[in-house]
This record gives sequence, structure tokens and C-alpha cells, in this order.
Amino acid sequence: MPVLGKYPTSGFRVDAAGPPKAGISAGAVLLINIKQLLTLRSSSGGARRGAELNELGIIRDGAVLSVGGKIVSVGNTSDALRDPWVRENRRKITEFPCEGKVVVPGFVDAHTHPVFMDARLIDFEKRVSGASYEEIAESGGGIRSSLKGVRRATRNQLAQRVLATLEEMGAQGTTTVEAKSGYGLTIEAELKSLEAIREAACRWPGTVVPTLLGAHVVPPEFLARSHSYVDAVCKEMIPLAAKRNLAAFVDVFTERGAFSLKETETILRVAAHHCLATRVHVCQLAKCNLQPILKYHPASLDHLDYVEDGDVAAIAKLDTVATLVPASNYFLATGHFPPARKLIDAGVPVALATDYNPGTSPTTSMPFVLSLACTQMKMSAAEAIVAATMNGACSLRLGNRKGSLEPGKDADIAVFEVADYREIPYWVAANRCSTTILNGIPRTE
Ligand SMILES: [Zn+2]
Repeated sequence: MPVLGKYPTSGFRVDAAGPPKAGISAGAVLLINIKQLLTLRSSSGGARRGAELNELGIIRDGAVLSVGGKIVSVGNTSDALRDPWVRENRRKITEFPCEGKVVVPGFVDAHTHPVFMDARLIDFEKRVSGASYEEIAESGGGIRSSLKGVRRATRNQLAQRVLATLEEMGAQGTTTVEAKSGYGLTIEAELKSLEAIREAACRWPGTVVPTLLGAHVVPPEFLARSHSYVDAVCKEMIPLAAKRNLAAFVDVFTERGAFSLKETETILRVAAHHCLATRVHVCQLAKCNLQPILKYHPASLDHLDYVEDGDVAAIAKLDTVATLVPASNYFLATGHFPPARKLIDAGVPVALATDYNPGTSPTTSMPFVLSLACTQMKMSAAEAIVAATMNGACSLRLGNRKGSLEPGKDADIAVFEVADYREIPYWVAANRCSTTILNGIPRTE
């Protein structure tokens, strides 16, 4: 197997790079004797499409060295141990022997809603007894029932909840998380939610990408006058979030019962004006014409359960990623899953995410999502891993830093107690992740 990077020569200083976060510093970390090291290296770069989704770049008896939070070398163990710099500095290096294990790039969970206070057990019971998503929403459940808890909570209480979620995700191999606001739906509560995400992100060694989802649903105060609420999102929430650097993305829930295509376009236009990238929840419950949305080149279109053939062909021509969230289909028990095969075969770059949220997808587990992708959407295990790492990174426009194990990229690494990568989706709802390295900082079970 080819070696991607050279091991550092003497003179490379372990302490050369500053800490990635206040109070946490990344030293030198070396993983050796890895049974299967999935590098996901690629000559093309960017989001993976079609057959590229099966390219894992596996190195057997692999080794990875990171210093100061960045990967400096990827190759085989004998080369790593012969390297003069490694030999000279061995005592300063934190070493992880990985005999019989699989190492993958840390998962990039590119669609989550972690800012909420309470589980939604009434919705859960209603759904179990047969009520639909829309029936639950109309009877006062759904997204609107999470508002009270978020509006009442302090920023610190919300940050504690978000941090606990990030830690749970990290324990299952996730190293980068996109985190949306969207359960406050007032200017104050949305900004508080974004501040809570920022506060939690500062205390977690992984990477968090914040998204303003002020346009999640129309809050009760604005029912029957959604235009006034869209006005508040466009004239106050987006400008304030941009000015205070609280969000990288703006998201919209485009669906019957949420926001119309016209309202979506208005919001996407304002986001672009404030230099924020965009992503859209769309075609989750019903068909929708995507052409007006595609004009704005969103980084990601999420759900896409009911995407139409003409739109699939149009998405394939763009660098927009299709982020599929099958755990919500599982939890809603719709019996219908997003058409992953159709999208992949048409050349659309597909990503996978948890859609972690209290109503429709209360799971933090990317391995569970991979399992659903294989069993319910007929993706191969290799496709699912690439979708959950490299393509998730591209959907967050972080493809140059995250999603593969190559020299120069961030040291985001997950170690699994399995002998073959296909076991990651195979062991359903089990956590076989033993170690996660987040920006060069190891956390072990
Ligand atoms: Zn969502």
C-alpha cells in the first residue's frame, strides 16, 4: 500500500502548534498496528459521487501520526516506527496500539438539532398509537411543543444540554457536528440557542458548525401571518446572527405546514446577502419543485424523501450535497426511506446524518444511521462510511479540513473494536467505538 505522507524529520516540534481550544492542547498522537486503516484518500478531492463512494483507501497494518491537532503522516506501522523523529520523541507521543481494530475518519454529523430541553414523550406515545406527524403538530405537539422549554431556559442550561449531546456523539465516533437552533423562534431565543451552541463548542474538543434555523416553523404568535415572522427572520435574526458571527449557515424547513417556496427564496436571498451559506430541509413529507431553491446553490439539501427525477438530475450538476437522515424515517415509521440509490446512481454526492432532535430522531449514533443506510436504503457499507465522513464534511464546506485521513487535515479519528469495517453498520445499535481523537485530543471509553 502506498504511503501518503512522510513521517516528520527531526526538528519537527511536538509543541509547535498552539492549542485548538482554550485550556485543551493537542500533543503528538500515534496510532499503530491498525488492522484496517480507512484513509478515504482521493486524487479528485471534493464530494464523492457514484463509484468514488466505494473508495476507502484501506491500508493494512496502518499507522497515523498527528501533531498539534493535524495529521502529519499516514502509512504503515513499520515505516512509522522506523522514522527518526518518532524514534527520538517516542516518550512524548501518546500511543494507541490498534491490533485487530478498524480506524476511520471521525464521523461528520452534518444535520442535528441539539438545542432543546425536554424529550417529547406525548408525541412518541401518540405516534405509537397511530397519529401522523401532521396530526401531532396540529394538536399542539411537534416542533412548537419544544418552544416553551427553550424560551424559559438560561443560555447556560441549554449549553449544558448541548455539551452532553456532543460528548455522547463523540463517544460513538463523531468528531464534527452541525448544530442548528430552531426551538426558540423568537429573536432572543434563537440568538440564545446559537450562543449556547458556541458555549458548548468551546468546551468540546471536536468541531461544531452552527446553523440558524429561525425558519423551522411559524411560531404560535405569528400563526396566520407567517409573512411577519419571515420578516423578523430576514430583518433581525439573520443580520444579528451574521453580525455576531454566531452562525455559518442559514437553514429553512420548506414543507407544507412550515415555509413556502416563496418564503424560502426570500430567506435564502437574505442569507446570501449577509454572506451566510445555506442548507434546506426539503421533500421530507411531500414533493416540492426544487428549481427555485437550486438557484441559490445551497451547500446541502436535507431529507429528499420525495425528490423528483428531474430535480435529481439538476442536483447532480451542482456541488450541493444530498444529506439523508434515515433515522427520522425509522423513528416516524413511515415505511418509506430517501431514494439513496437513485441519487447515487445519478451522480449526486450523498451524505448521512442523524437529524438528532426530540421529535423525530432522538439518536446520536452515526453507526446506527450507517446501519439504516445499508439495510433500508441499500447503500454498501463503504458508501455509507464515505457519506458519513467525507461527504458530510463537503456538505459543511469543510472538505479541505475534514472527512479523510490525509496529511494536513485535522486529526479527527475514530477507532472501532471490529476486525472489518463492514462490522460498523453490521452490529445494529451497538457502540463499538473505543477511542475518538478530536482535533488531536484523544478520548477513550
Ligand atoms: Zn432536521
